[in-house]
Amino acid sequence: MSRIMNFSAGPSTLPLEVLEEARDQLINYQDSGASLIEVSHRGKAYSAVHEEALANLHELLGLTDDHAVLLLQSGATGQFAMVPMNLLGAGQTADYTNSGSWAKKAIGAAQKIGDINVVADCGDDRPTRVPTDAEMTQTPGAAYLHITTNETISGAQWKQLPETDAPLVADMSSDILSRPLDYSRLDLVYAGAQKNLGPAGATLVAIRRDLAEQTGEHLPLSMRYKTHMDDGSMHNTPPCFSVYMIMLVTRWLKKRGLESVFECNRRKAEKLYAAIDATDFYQGTAATDCRSDMNVTFRLANEQLEPVFADEATKEGMIGLKGHRSVGGLRASIYNAFPEEGVDALVSLMQEFERTNG
Ligand code: PMP
Repeated sequence: MSRIMNFSAGPSTLPLEVLEEARDQLINYQDSGASLIEVSHRGKAYSAVHEEALANLHELLGLTDDHAVLLLQSGATGQFAMVPMNLLGAGQTADYTNSGSWAKKAIGAAQKIGDINVVADCGDDRPTRVPTDAEMTQTPGAAYLHITTNETISGAQWKQLPETDAPLVADMSSDILSRPLDYSRLDLVYAGAQKNLGPAGATLVAIRRDLAEQTGEHLPLSMRYKTHMDDGSMHNTPPCFSVYMIMLVTRWLKKRGLESVFECNRRKAEKLYAAIDATDFYQGTAATDCRSDMNVTFRLANEQLEPVFADEATKEGMIGLKGHRSVGGLRASIYNAFPEEGVDALVSLMQEFERTNG
């Protein structure tokens, strides 16, 4: 079977060996006579998977017992509300940076909950970018500072975490575990699974234990981080299949090592940015110093050729290259599991397309 080159922004490409293993185990899990997704989530088979997924994530993030790792539901979108519900107390202000579409959504959700201060706003800047520390005027005593480490739509990425005295909260949906980072500096980090971790359905949250302990007492149990921490992410039936796949993907990540995954991600991104920069025919849309390693966004100088390019790519077995419907243009999402050969094929297509249409 030949696999297409899937540049989709999420759900997105998963490692082939992970898919093969899941396929082999789907109907008769470890010769138990049943599928893992048909049996009790409190049973031995699923419990082992659940525990391993959480432990692998904890290890890959390089966290100590000061943090709890949770797998929840309702996506990163759910976290847009759950973060302020838990961490933004009465009379407090939370600081947010606006770096683009996803940050804006996080801000919009938080504004319904409490007082928000947008400390830097470059969400509509072109080229797209993330703010510098210097342009942020942080609120003294803020409940937390929220950042979106990788803007999946615009392709702008924070290359380092900002300095702050407040608890730091990050939406890392589209670059979690794509690079080594001092994850312990994040008091709370969250990510939908469907880019670098597995299929849609589970949402990673890693939170400092004392923060979870001290907050959200007024909330319904299911909305409070402490509940999920105390119940080992088993407060309600977990998304068993998604967690199983995350367990397999994190095994794959551990085998490869985060450093080598990062090196490969850098190489893939550099090849594409080099192809974009080699000619005026293509134009990168993110500021050079914040270009994302995960979502490479670009335009054609002649924008009318963009759909022609996307069609040509589809003919060559490459899908998912159309930019998000809100911004247009082109976007190559090249998460951890996206193979380097696919990037080489796209670079060749870009060169050939310019030769025939330039
Ligand atoms: N934040 C970012 C950076 C995203 O890329 C996405 C999804 N593309 C979301 C949040 C929303 O995630 P979900 O669909 O899991 O709610």
